[in-house]
Amino acid sequence: PRDLFGPGRRNSRGVELGHRASLEALLAEIAGAGAPGSAAPLVDGRALGGERRPVLNPADGRTPVGEVAEASPESADAAIAAARAGFPAWSAIPADRRAAALERAGDLLEARRGRFLHLLQAEAGKTLDDALSELREAVDFCRYYAAQGRELMGEPETMPGPTGEANRLALRGRGVFVAISPWNFPLAIFLGQVAAALMAGNAVVAKPAEQTPLVAAEAVRLLHEAGVPASALHFVPGDGRVGARLVENPHAGGVVFTGSTEVARLINRTLAAKDGPIVPLIAETGGINAMIVDATALPEQVADDVATSAFRSAGQRCSALRLLLVQEDVADRMIEMIVGAARELKVGDPRDVSVAIGPVIDMEAKERLDAHVARMSREAKRVHLAGEAPRSGTYVAPHVFELDRPGALDQEVFGPILHVARYRAADLDRVLEGIEATGYGLTLGVHSRIDATIERVVRRLSVGNVYVNRNMIGAVVGVQPFGGHGLSGTGPKAGGPHYLLRFSTEQTVTINT
Ligand code: GLU
Repeated sequence: PRDLFGPGRRNSRGVELGHRASLEALLAEIAGAGAPGSAAPLVDGRALGGERRPVLNPADGRTPVGEVAEASPESADAAIAAARAGFPAWSAIPADRRAAALERAGDLLEARRGRFLHLLQAEAGKTLDDALSELREAVDFCRYYAAQGRELMGEPETMPGPTGEANRLALRGRGVFVAISPWNFPLAIFLGQVAAALMAGNAVVAKPAEQTPLVAAEAVRLLHEAGVPASALHFVPGDGRVGARLVENPHAGGVVFTGSTEVARLINRTLAAKDGPIVPLIAETGGINAMIVDATALPEQVADDVATSAFRSAGQRCSALRLLLVQEDVADRMIEMIVGAARELKVGDPRDVSVAIGPVIDMEAKERLDAHVARMSREAKRVHLAGEAPRSGTYVAPHVFELDRPGALDQEVFGPILHVARYRAADLDRVLEGIEATGYGLTLGVHSRIDATIERVVRRLSVGNVYVNRNMIGAVVGVQPFGGHGLSGTGPKAGGPHYLLRFSTEQTVTINT
């Protein structure tokens, strides 16, 4: 098999949190890096002013962990103009050197892990476990796109053929790429988008999620230090209005977006309504992700994998399990074990290393989830688990609701709430049709010991990432390329071998020799 990272390169290494000395060393690094963060629009390396507001710790919605100056519409325009001016020089830099800057960024991220982990915990409420895997993913994105870029964007490819001419095909940057990222992976997805767009030779204007500008600002400073010129990477923190302004700009040559399906549609419409070039959108959105568990599945493993998939990261991953479909013959026992596994997960302050479920991102998210819980508590066929969470703050306890039919879940619920429905073995095809009918296609889990069932499910459903007999979150860069279809996004897959291509244009040169 082809090693997608290329010779001598590997995924970043983890930390064994069960090993006392490693854990203590890490906690000391995080504690030593705890100064408040700051973020401001950065255009050509110059920090611009803007409306200032505190960034609040999501765990209590009150304690400031830093400050952001939000970009005005004029700063957004200035960032695009500056990126336009910076594009020719950056795209002319050999791919090898662009890759070297990204690799340096990956090394710096690892060297400064304490600072980044601190910000991920303070600003995004991540548990240490989640923060660490996010940091690793960010490092991997830098290294992986660098490795891919060296291979794809280096020397033009010679095209052999019968024409008697010299034909070559080269990949080049498209121009100014706008990168709009979500709060649930404020470092990894932010950096992944930016690194890919830069590697492909684009100048970039990056807008982080309004809830998480601090860690993104730190990442931008780090990329500049690693050798990405200030003229090639500009930063505009702010809310959706800033994003809209960037997308509307006639000089935005491409948009990469991760977030809701609704916003992806809005961006698409905005791009379609513009005069001038036809601008590509790379969108990664949500899912109503299902897991199918048949009677041959191993209950202990199912319980663990379901608890991880539905509740870890407080369910705030677009890959997370939302709808569990269990064959009715084994449903009582499976559900009982799942509930048992979920009860073990402690909810609380994410800096406490024994905590598995931290806060949700803000009060608004909590209120939305609480309203869903209240509705399901009335409407669900059965409530199997209403877990416990601290009363104050933005915590949401894990819940397991049983529906009378799978189709009763018709929207993505972005939190630690699992919906379960039973199916009869003879009805599996109908179950698969139901999953397809949601229109989403991001992740799917299958727990079965029957190869024919696994194959049937995999063939029938056009879902981006299928996980068999394991949990369904945490795709590994370069190993499990990630992203979905339909309402879940446009592709190409992040952390996969085709991602950079969509950030590029192709040029064929034919020379009559
Ligand atoms: N790539 C992440 C995973 O596999 C999810 C990304 C997202 O939530 O946007 O769990």
